[in-house]
Amino acid sequence: MTRLAQRLSDIPSSATVRIADVAASLRRQGVPVVDLSAGRAAEHTPPYIVEAAVVAMREGHTHQTMSIGTPEFRQACAVKLGRDNDIDADPDREIIGTMGVKQGLTLALMATIGGGDEVIVEDPCFVSYQPLIRMCGGVPIGVPLRAENGFRWRREDLESRITSRTRAILFNSPHNPTGTVHADADLDVIADVARTHDLVILSDEVYERVTWNGRRHVSIASRPDVRDRTVTVMGLTKTFSMGGWRIGFVHAEPALIKAMASLQQHLITCASSIAQAAATAAFGEPPRPEVLELWRQWEQRCLFVAAELRKVPGVTCHDPEGGFYAWPDVRGTGWDDTELAEALLHQHHVAVVPGSAFGESGRGYLRLTCVRSWPDVKEAMARITSVLREAPANGRSSASGGGS
Ligand code: PMP
Repeated sequence: MTRLAQRLSDIPSSATVRIADVAASLRRQGVPVVDLSAGRAAEHTPPYIVEAAVVAMREGHTHQTMSIGTPEFRQACAVKLGRDNDIDADPDREIIGTMGVKQGLTLALMATIGGGDEVIVEDPCFVSYQPLIRMCGGVPIGVPLRAENGFRWRREDLESRITSRTRAILFNSPHNPTGTVHADADLDVIADVARTHDLVILSDEVYERVTWNGRRHVSIASRPDVRDRTVTVMGLTKTFSMGGWRIGFVHAEPALIKAMASLQQHLITCASSIAQAAATAAFGEPPRPEVLELWRQWEQRCLFVAAELRKVPGVTCHDPEGGFYAWPDVRGTGWDDTELAEALLHQHHVAVVPGSAFGESGRGYLRLTCVRSWPDVKEAMARITSVLREAPANGRSSASGGGS
């Protein structure tokens, strides 16, 4: 058997991808699974964006581009940053096109950490952060987000975990999985700590355009005095339903972009020329009415799911402020989150992700993707709420159930 590299020793598979794969294979066997596990919307990429890619292919844009991306794509990213995010960006020196947000984060981590540097991350957080940090030679330090603080860090939470090895803070707003959207004051806590301790800020803004109940996303790079220590990572995977195109970009100060460009040349040469053309169409103008309507639909589904969950005795669920997910605390029902997710998938044919997959502080929660089709969302909620209303039969772990 092939001896695997040491770096794989503590890299688990992605829980969300694994559960979505099981759901897909059950469906192929004819089991009517409703899948609220992976973070993808039901709707496809808007046709005008697809059309831009078709035109690009017909016009012969089928070759590699510059490693940092085409001038047109970077210009569209800069226009978008100015228009939506109050970030004034130089398209030639401060932007690099990437194969989605994960690859943008990987470049940023490879360029900034190594040799055991510590990176502060949220607990719970996106399932790939800790593995990516480890793959890049760093050590993730999870700092709990507490429900009583609206799943936001307080200054003392962060400062108590900073050591001489701390190099960066990686965070996500709107947040996967809790749905928190940081306001100016929340961002200023992170910004202050980063300034005081000379840390890099890695800001994952993949959900930046999907905020609910009138909330507005703020980019931390637009806050005073942190622009040059911030790496902003954005993409089209979520907001334009473009997960399969693998396209995104990073904004950072010129020296860092130059370093990432060198890595990019060896790793992937460049992001797909066709995906860049599609993304240029998406970012180059304000979102069209059909896109705004899509986001409105998603908001309604997110708020519907949270409201349905709140009706169940023993379940606590706040309205998500943004992003794709509801994050119910199910401890009051007596269920253990992992056992509940297993029972829902195998006995009731609904795929959701147990909160503990996102970190120790996620234990006792479930993550539900709300932006599936209306019929799927309604069917899934009927199944989930009826299971939650019943006492767990064999799935109960009385000691860990808590709160019931
Ligand atoms: N960051 C977060 C917080 C996410 O939730 C996801 C997808 N679930 C990603 C990054 C991945 O983005 P991409 O598909 O653009 O790599």
